[in-house]
Amino acid sequence: MTKLRLAVVGAGPAGIYASDILLKAERKFDVSIDLFEQLPAPYGLVRYGVAPDHPRIKGIINALRDVLDRGDIRIFGNVRYGEDVTLDDLKNHYNAVIFATGAIRDHSLDVPGVELEGSYGAASFVNWYDGHPDVPREWPLNHKSVAVVGNGNVALDVARVLAKHADDLLPTEIPDNVYEGLQASQVTDVHVFGRRGPAQVKFTPLELRELGELNDVDMVLYEEDFDYDEASKQAIASNKQVMVIDRIMTKWRERETGQASRRLHLHFYAKPLEVLDDGQGNVAAFRYERTRPDGEGGVEGTGEIREVEIGQLYRAIGYFGSPLDGIPFDKKLGIVPNHEGRVMDRKTNEQVHGVYATGWIKRGPIGLIGHTKSDAMETVSHIINDQGNWWTPDSPEEQAIVDLLDERGVEYTDLDGWHNLDAHEVALGEPHERARIKVVPRDEMVKISRGE
Ligand SMILES: Cc1cc2nc3c(=O)[nH]c(=O)nc-3n(C[C@H](O)[C@H](O)[C@H](O)COP(=O)(O)OP(=O)(O)OC[C@H]3O[C@@H](n4cnc5c(N)ncnc54)[C@H](O)[C@@H]3O)c2cc1C
Repeated sequence: MTKLRLAVVGAGPAGIYASDILLKAERKFDVSIDLFEQLPAPYGLVRYGVAPDHPRIKGIINALRDVLDRGDIRIFGNVRYGEDVTLDDLKNHYNAVIFATGAIRDHSLDVPGVELEGSYGAASFVNWYDGHPDVPREWPLNHKSVAVVGNGNVALDVARVLAKHADDLLPTEIPDNVYEGLQASQVTDVHVFGRRGPAQVKFTPLELRELGELNDVDMVLYEEDFDYDEASKQAIASNKQVMVIDRIMTKWRERETGQASRRLHLHFYAKPLEVLDDGQGNVAAFRYERTRPDGEGGVEGTGEIREVEIGQLYRAIGYFGSPLDGIPFDKKLGIVPNHEGRVMDRKTNEQVHGVYATGWIKRGPIGLIGHTKSDAMETVSHIINDQGNWWTPDSPEEQAIVDLLDERGVEYTDLDGWHNLDAHEVALGEPHERARIKVVPRDEMVKISRGE
């Protein structure tokens, strides 16, 4: 029987689901899968994106771990495609590769002043509070007033963590440095800005409702944003999600405020124009143009310019994929160009044999973790059908890639290594009655994983 030696790059949900689906799929060949992950721990944005105070979603890790614990997928953690292994290596050892590398950096916001000190992409802050090994340990929160630009769930995550008291996050898995950083926070007012109206937001009701339940935080809304036009009224009447969002905000508008020590302001109809400088290269204010409904569900500028004094600005306007060595890349969309997961050469518009994509790098950074499953099914079905076009590797033996990594001195981690790290993090949490405390530095993660 033929055997498919498959490399999967990226151990987020997309890579793990794709491996699982292929192993369970009806097919006429054997499969052996090696999963490469640049971080010493798997699970991608479920570990390093989903907010620590969302334990139900973080719990998806248990389902992903069950897949890995079966033991029929080999994991090579702390191995980066493009540095530790190359496309030529993969061609030499495998019949095909699936890239499931996700989207791990911020989409840019094209306004003057965005490069000032104190202007951050949401991904950097999220990486910090989720204990990503490759970002600084310190996060200065030494300003009272901060802005978050964006109207999706990531904007709400960032705003919530900024507004929340550190002690209310303590029961979660946040690392000690994050708890200390949040405890020292001077932030009292978090201003969230959306370009469009309350009936056109991208966030979901569950995430919105949560803001109103924060301890010692007032929700502040502005009556001028709720003079709905016909299109907004129709959106509220016809879409259950929008209707619930409107109901939540209506309740907040009726609430008494003024008692809490922190405030979370929701500003709508605000188009970003500029981040203003304090004269020394630091963020001093956010300038925006007031917009209004254009009658068709969109917005148009009013010419009215406003400013809010802030000390920091967080851009939460979407994540963006990164290019991969030797693989076509769509710079505009931040994805690997593909047709249903088959990677396409953009110049010739032909399939690049042996190369597939799934998850956020395939379809862009939208959608929930569950969507990566249906994505993976589509990609895997094409790999199965493309058998005639797979690569023919010179050294497909399973030991060959291990020898190569050893030869290069790559300190890779494996499934046992992840179990070691997992047990270590759980043990760190135990004396404090916390489920786990994350280990942050990469070298420490690797040492613990490798039992050194
Ligand atoms: C801030 C934030 C909060 C979110 N909250 C939720 C939520 O509450 N609920 C929900 O359902 N969804 C949520 N999502 C969406 C969810 O995280 C994504 O749908 C999902 O993680 C996408 O899966 P993926 O496997 O394609 O990418 P990722 O999860 O990003 O995984 C990609 C993996 O590839 C690895 N990788 C990248 N480049 C390389 C390389 N060169 N070599 C080796 N490995 C590499 C990365 O390290 C990573 O582990 C959130 C997303 C963000 C950004």
